[in-house]
Amino acid sequence: MGLYRDEAVVLRTMRLGEADRIVTLLTRGRGKVRAVAKGVRKTKSRFGGRLEPLGHVALLLYEGRELDVVTQVESIEHFRAVREDLDRLAKAQALLEVADQVSQERHANVGLYRMLVGALRALSAHDSPLLVPAFFLKVLAGEGASPVLDGCAGCGAGRPALQGPSGPLSGKLAFDLVEGGVLCPNCARRTSAPAISAPALDLIRRVLTGDLAGALNSDDSAAAAEVDRLVTRSVEHHLERRLRSVTVLNRW
Ligand SMILES: [Zn+2]
Repeated sequence: MGLYRDEAVVLRTMRLGEADRIVTLLTRGRGKVRAVAKGVRKTKSRFGGRLEPLGHVALLLYEGRELDVVTQVESIEHFRAVREDLDRLAKAQALLEVADQVSQERHANVGLYRMLVGALRALSAHDSPLLVPAFFLKVLAGEGASPVLDGCAGCGAGRPALQGPSGPLSGKLAFDLVEGGVLCPNCARRTSAPAISAPALDLIRRVLTGDLAGALNSDDSAAAAEVDRLVTRSVEHHLERRLRSVTVLNRW
């Protein structure tokens, strides 16, 4: 036990007593950390507004048995463009909620930390309709739950190694992470998997195979909306709960 330094994104906060707050942080070095910020709700708090959700901060913490204690905070980024735009703020909430769900307490996940900071920076610079689903896809891949895209997840049709006379997948394809990814027309008929269009499948492929920037700049808004629906459904299945912030987004 002792003092340690780390960088973190504030995922959420909870009141504690009159003037204190418990902050849930995604740290770079220790995964999810819950810490007490004493006096943070007083007007003259030495922490100022730096410990609000979405803050990217550098901290000095004192390690405790259950909760750590925040002793110093410096702001790294404030993401002002996100805070000042309700639509982007709702998207940021969805990112924070999924990061909260998949991170483990005191278990470093540098990949997830980098993805979250990168997604918040991208959202701050440009409001792409594909940003939230792209983050969700990357999280699924990080969890080892990447969808099968190079052929049918059900029967293997169209997979390069198995390609028979039928060649690559064609016809009306479906997409369902419960089934493992893309489904050929035959396998799709046996499930309730929703259909996927060729442009939407192409966007998912680009996000997962190294053309994230290109996918985020795509101007095919219909395909982006389709990817958003399909991927949100997949993440919800993966997390086995409906995401509160996604429900809020859809209500708007
Ligand atoms: Zn199949």
